[in-house]
Amino acid sequence: MTKATKLSLKLLAKRYARAKRITLHQALDLVAGKLGFANWTKLASASKNDWIPSSKQMASIEAFVAHALPTEDFQTGHPEAMTRRFANLEQAEHGMIGDHAYRLQVIFHDVVMAGAGWSIKVPENPGAAPIIQTSIENDERCPVFDPEFLQKALDLARDRAVQVRGEISTDWPRRSTKPDLDGVVRHPLWGGESDMWFCLHCGRKIIGTQIAQNLWHCPGCGASPLDIFDTAFWCDDGGESLPSVRTDGAVDSDKPDFRVVDDRPKLDLNEEKITLLIRCALLDDATNISEKLGALQAEISVEDENDVWIALEEDLWPHDKRPVQAFIVAAQLGIEVELESMCSAIPFAWPRLGELTSSTSEYTQMMLDAYAQYELLVSTQN
Ligand SMILES: [Zn+2]
Repeated sequence: MTKATKLSLKLLAKRYARAKRITLHQALDLVAGKLGFANWTKLASASKNDWIPSSKQMASIEAFVAHALPTEDFQTGHPEAMTRRFANLEQAEHGMIGDHAYRLQVIFHDVVMAGAGWSIKVPENPGAAPIIQTSIENDERCPVFDPEFLQKALDLARDRAVQVRGEISTDWPRRSTKPDLDGVVRHPLWGGESDMWFCLHCGRKIIGTQIAQNLWHCPGCGASPLDIFDTAFWCDDGGESLPSVRTDGAVDSDKPDFRVVDDRPKLDLNEEKITLLIRCALLDDATNISEKLGALQAEISVEDENDVWIALEEDLWPHDKRPVQAFIVAAQLGIEVELESMCSAIPFAWPRLGELTSSTSEYTQMMLDAYAQYELLVSTQN
């Protein structure tokens, strides 16, 4: 195996380890396992004997790792995630329950139903309870608190989830959802047949019929099929000592899980933020380096949340120059501006130099030259 191939396998294992919060050592063994080796050491020694993974094997490892990586969150404003969100919204089915509009979407096999101020998620995992999120606590405007509405909405979302799970099973090998007479089932993603399975996430044993029935989600902790393996490679005894999964303590999937959340971004216009916007606007008003320095050095304070007081350094900001943009921004925020000029210590000598340019690098050079010339002048005078 070439160094490059080994390195990219290691890199993939590293990404997997990060995504799944397991040690690199575990991830390396996992990758080796996918390539038919007992552990990473065995793979490394085989690679010395010219073993190399086929391109198909490499692709399967890449796909395995990509599956585990977190999906981009649209709240971070990632363009790809935003586009996907808009695509999801476009594909949503729209309908009404009574007077309340809703949209129904399938996002990564989860069914999400949402309306104004509420959402219901029926996870892909058949053993997990539906999650109801609402931003307002028992408010009449929010229909999910009405049992009749909730039942209708849950029925719709659950019906869709049954359909989604049916589609998933159809894509899988028959043996993945239908155990043989000995309870042997096949892993839907990477094959391997066994009557006993192990959950990497909670470290418990699961019998074949149970895992198949639960669409390959751990009945104990809800981990996805990606965490289910036919060998407990992370245990020295191959998983003998691991406890069996108990389902009596598992969630009651009929009882929805109510969560009151408010994840809408909220604007808290405090003094710090107002100051930041006003300073930003002053920079818009600045046309040369002197004024830019003036904007950065300005003293800005907010009084009573409806008055902003701006003091501009008289050597850096022209006395008769009105910061138009700052006034506009203040008006947008609904606050009054009080302007003053002040006389304080300026950062560099010869403030007029800054009026000659709007380029910081050009100004820096002029300022350095001026200091150097002054030094020369002083030393010749002495
Ligand atoms: Zn588990």
